[in-house]
Amino acid sequence: MKLFNWYLILILTATVAYSCDSINTFKNKHLKSDICNSVEATVQTDPVDSEGDAMDDPAVWIHPDDPSKSLIIGTNKKAGLIIYDLDGKQCQFVQSGRVNNVDIRYGFNLGEEKIDIVAASNRSFNTLSIYKIDGDSCRLTDVSARAIKSDLSEVYGFCLYKSALTGKFFAFVNSKDGSMEQWELFATEDKKIDAKKVRSFEVGKQTEGCVADDELGYLYVGEETFGIWKFFAEPDKNTDRKLVADTTASNIVSDIEGLTIYYTEKGKGYLLASIQGNNSYAVFERDGKNKYLGCFSIVDGSSTDGVKDTDGIDVVNLRLNNKFPNGFFIAQDGYNSKNGRDTTQNFKMVPWENIANSFTSPLIIDNQFNVRMLNQTED
Ligand code: CA
Ligand code: CA
Ligand code: CA
Ligand code: CA
Repeated sequence: MKLFNWYLILILTATVAYSCDSINTFKNKHLKSDICNSVEATVQTDPVDSEGDAMDDPAVWIHPDDPSKSLIIGTNKKAGLIIYDLDGKQCQFVQSGRVNNVDIRYGFNLGEEKIDIVAASNRSFNTLSIYKIDGDSCRLTDVSARAIKSDLSEVYGFCLYKSALTGKFFAFVNSKDGSMEQWELFATEDKKIDAKKVRSFEVGKQTEGCVADDELGYLYVGEETFGIWKFFAEPDKNTDRKLVADTTASNIVSDIEGLTIYYTEKGKGYLLASIQGNNSYAVFERDGKNKYLGCFSIVDGSSTDGVKDTDGIDVVNLRLNNKFPNGFFIAQDGYNSKNGRDTTQNFKMVPWENIANSFTSPLIIDNQFNVRMLNQTED
């Protein structure tokens, strides 16, 4: 009898402790995102053809002469790359395989030509896929010199870096086991792009989201369940790193997914991170010690539903058109609905000024600084 009582007490204690823990976890997650500013998306892309968790990472390409003709390149991680115009209308699908993350850089010297490159981690072939973009015809041309196979068990996260020091282009690619590789891209004699591995290092547990700051020479990497790390992006620098923020900080919860940078002059701007665990986006200063400034969430709006479970993000500051006089922030929406009914995933765009002005101390709005210039090299 006595033994039975003890047993009962033990079970009760365990149950109460577990419940409190669950409630606290639940409360924390909610409290953490409830303190974020609410913004609405005004434009969204066409929904993807594939069902389920298919979309992942967007990247915005700025047109050299007419910003209103800029394009969005997104990954359908089950099938290939999709190109959209600024109204979110699909203009191209490239059946490239299971591309996970995508990034863009400007002004790669290929023979006598200067091209803009779109590159991605490709899980179908464990490779880096490299394309030249022709924006006016909404086309990507594969310019990979060969199947550039990674030594990682399986490529996952991906981002590009163009060094302000050397003018060289690099790709960072990581795997779910937390390993990172850095590849230098170079032109071949027959006007293709090849790559050689120049460095590899460990980040920790599962990694994916990454972004490089071309001007300040840093690489930011998300260790999904832990935090955001800052490394030197130059391959000959050491692999010492600094922690930007971890899950003990206000509003940062697991998983940490996509990362992107809002550039403005004099090294100012912001580092933005998708905090998938509570459907918000964290904003840090780009310079100095990357001070945390606050967060925002994309809620249901008059023309689009809210955004949840975001993987990839990107941001553009430049004046593009009347809908986006100050650029926009773009995020993958894990749960998309049309006329109140669930449909396949898409990307949603929020005018930057809506985000900037949602902060008590408004964020910088600079619609002149052009990241194309940032990437320009001497001829
Ligand atoms: Ca997802
Ligand atoms: Ca992930
Ligand atoms: Ca992802
Ligand atoms: Ca949604």
